Amino acid sequence: MFESISDKLDRAFKVLKGHGQITEVNVAETLKEVRRALLDADVNFKVAKTFTDTVKEKALGQNVLTSVTPGQLLIKITKDELTKLMGGDATDINISGNPSVVLMSGLQGSGKTTFSGKLANFLKKKKGKKPLLVACDVYRPAAIDQLHVVGEQVGVEVYSNKEQKDPVKIAQEGIEFAKKQGLNMVIIDTAGRLAVDEKMMNEIAEIKNAINPQEVLFVVDSMTGQDAVNTAKAFNSRLNFDGVVLTKLDGDTRGGAALSIRKVVDKPIKFIGTGEKMDALDVFYPERMADRILGMGDVVSLVERAQEQYDAEKVRKLQKKIAKNQFNFEDFMDHIQQIKKMGSVKDLMGMIPGMGKAMKNMDIDDDAFKGVEAIIQSMTVQERVQPELINSSRKKRIASGSGTTIQEVNRLIKQFEETRKMMRMMSNKKNMMGMMNQFK
Ligand code: GDP
Repeated sequence: MFESISDKLDRAFKVLKGHGQITEVNVAETLKEVRRALLDADVNFKVAKTFTDTVKEKALGQNVLTSVTPGQLLIKITKDELTKLMGGDATDINISGNPSVVLMSGLQGSGKTTFSGKLANFLKKKKGKKPLLVACDVYRPAAIDQLHVVGEQVGVEVYSNKEQKDPVKIAQEGIEFAKKQGLNMVIIDTAGRLAVDEKMMNEIAEIKNAINPQEVLFVVDSMTGQDAVNTAKAFNSRLNFDGVVLTKLDGDTRGGAALSIRKVVDKPIKFIGTGEKMDALDVFYPERMADRILGMGDVVSLVERAQEQYDAEKVRKLQKKIAKNQFNFEDFMDHIQQIKKMGSVKDLMGMIPGMGKAMKNMDIDDDAFKGVEAIIQSMTVQERVQPELINSSRKKRIASGSGTTIQEVNRLIKQFEETRKMMRMMSNKKNMMGMMNQFK
């Protein structure tokens, strides 16, 4: 995400390279490029102007600092201002009621239903809540079915009533149902339209007035740039929502929505959607996002995701094996499965500082592991545990069994040996955090 703006900002800061000092002239030149990068990323022009004016003022004011280069200083100020622009600190979702009710709003296709499922999953797994999903789209039966599918995926019950044509009543029935079942979170998915329209706004405002939810979230597709900001304005003036959910940040978004929405509607971004799968949801941290936009990577999120997926016991066992040089293809396969659970490979790599840019033109899809898995599956258990056994006749058999070539098998074995070597080196380091700190 955000490769293009990251690149352009990077280029803008290069203007200052070789300059020993910040001057009106070189700052103005750099910030002209920064502003252009923001506008190209579809950031609202007023937001971009105020932003660069603030950075300029701060940069010139801090010129006395001589311990850093002008480029570093300007990057630091830009990062701090980007963080502020996106809201400063992370803002939690209000889940204090019993049941606590969250009402979704947004256009059709923005990702409401998908996010409803992700949120139910998040609240269940991370917050120990017992959620209920409620389907209030009375116009598209397919939307009700979709919510049932999503509910099933995350193991959360779904309340719907295809006979009832009044969405306000369905919402109320849903809340009653949750109370009876002892469920303490109600997530209400509503009908969207392709564009902002009066009838839809009235309907959702009526639901809001009738049920008085703890939290009204506005879901918006980040790929829609300035439109996302305008839609947010329209929804907010009618609903006075509590927070924004930006979806599809895994795509080719230019980032404008993430950067402008907070400032324009003065409501926090609370979550971001980074994929179609039910676990592709992240809490929105402005500072981490600023790091990513500036191409500084988001190591904290990466480590958190890794920690969530890695079972501590497994890690301990694996560490022991690595230390004894007993890491084998079975473990390698297991390792691949864990990585796959963490999310899309490209997205993960993008969190590593400097990698985002390097990977821009690489076509890494999630099937990248398929060949590797096929090769390992074609090995006998003995071969997986004792890779040294794999001689050339075995390689030939493995290649034909997995539908690959001997070269591919050789490449994998080499890769495996390198991984093994690297892991041994890393096992001497204290922990993963220690390892990640090297990047800083
Ligand atoms: P709704 O009409 O607002 O309920 O939108 P849906 O939940 O049906 O989502 C519309 C499309 O966007 C579906 O194909 C989803 O799979 C997809 N989608 C939703 N969230 C994300 C996301 O964060 N990333 C990606 N890549 N796709 C998403």
